Amino acid sequence: MQFNTYTVAGAHVAVWLVNHRDCDAAALTAELRRHDVHEPTGTEDDVRALRAWTAKLREVFAAATVAGKAEFTDALLVAADCRPRLVSHEPGKPYHFHYAPAGTGLAARVKALTAAGLAHVIDEGGGTRLRACDRGGCGVAFLDTSRNGRRHFCSVRCANQVNVASHRRRKSAVTMAG
Ligand SMILES: [Zn+2]
Ligand SMILES: [Zn+2]
Repeated sequence: MQFNTYTVAGAHVAVWLVNHRDCDAAALTAELRRHDVHEPTGTEDDVRALRAWTAKLREVFAAATVAGKAEFTDALLVAADCRPRLVSHEPGKPYHFHYAPAGTGLAARVKALTAAGLAHVIDEGGGTRLRACDRGGCGVAFLDTSRNGRRHFCSVRCANQVNVASHRRRKSAVTMAG
């Protein structure tokens, strides 16, 4: 699947929100701008309004099965009142999906965009790519964009920590057996 489309941008924004729970309005705006979100300027009220939403987004990444992820995401589509529309901002400019009516507040638009992005990834068969880091206690969410889709850790650092720990366990098991 392609990971650089505007639709998937919603999934990238969802990842960012889950990993930046305590972000301020400026950071949120910068992240939305990075993904070409229309009128991305948010207020502290928007950020506050998105906190509870972010906790719901986390459940999608934390769910153990694709069915669970799909169920949570489907509920988010309803909760966000996600209603795709085809929009062109100027005559001759390309049409693309907006997920909430123009003029809707930023928090509501971000909810619709993130729900749609996660739904799109699952629809494309990429549900298992919506992951939380396998290292116990880390919990960082990520969208696995690797070719084979088998990334288990958020970072090389977490992967190394787990590998070192399991190597030690194997070694001491061998010592005890010997
Ligand atoms: Zn637009
Ligand atoms: Zn991690």
